[in-house]
This record gives sequence, C-alpha cells and structure tokens, in this order.
Amino acid sequence: MMYVVVRCPRCGELLLANTANQTRTCPNCNHRTELKTLRVYGRAETPAEATELMKRLKAKDSAGEDYTPGFRRLGP
Ligand SMILES: [Zn+2]
Repeated sequence: MMYVVVRCPRCGELLLANTANQTRTCPNCNHRTELKTLRVYGRAETPAEATELMKRLKAKDSAGEDYTPGFRRLGP
C-alpha cells in the first residue's frame, strides 16, 4: 500500500490518496477523479511520511514555488 499526493483537476487542491483505491473524492469541491489520470506530486509509504509530505508540498504551494517533478531550474 502506498500514499500519493495528487492535485484536484477541478479546484487545484492538493490531495492525499491511498493507492489501494481507484478514485479519490476532493474534500474541497467534492469532485471525484480516477487516480491513474492524475499527476503524482509525491509518494509515501507510511501515514506519517504522507502527512509530512503533504505539509511540505502545501508549504511550497503557498510559497508559489515550482516543484514539478523531474524539473530542475538551470542556474543558481
Ligand atoms: Zn477539488
């Protein structure tokens, strides 16, 4: 079992989803999406790790930082 952080395609909210499920309903806008169609922002193996990951991503989100996976800025 794994946890993934995805983003709701409707409202843009970051969501923590369990990979044992096929779908995830957004607590913010009630939109249900299939997990396999979503971009994964991060993965975690334990609930504690997942909570920590969400905290980090949300902090970056509010800072407006670009953290697209696999993408690295050139330069300093
Ligand atoms: Zn939503």
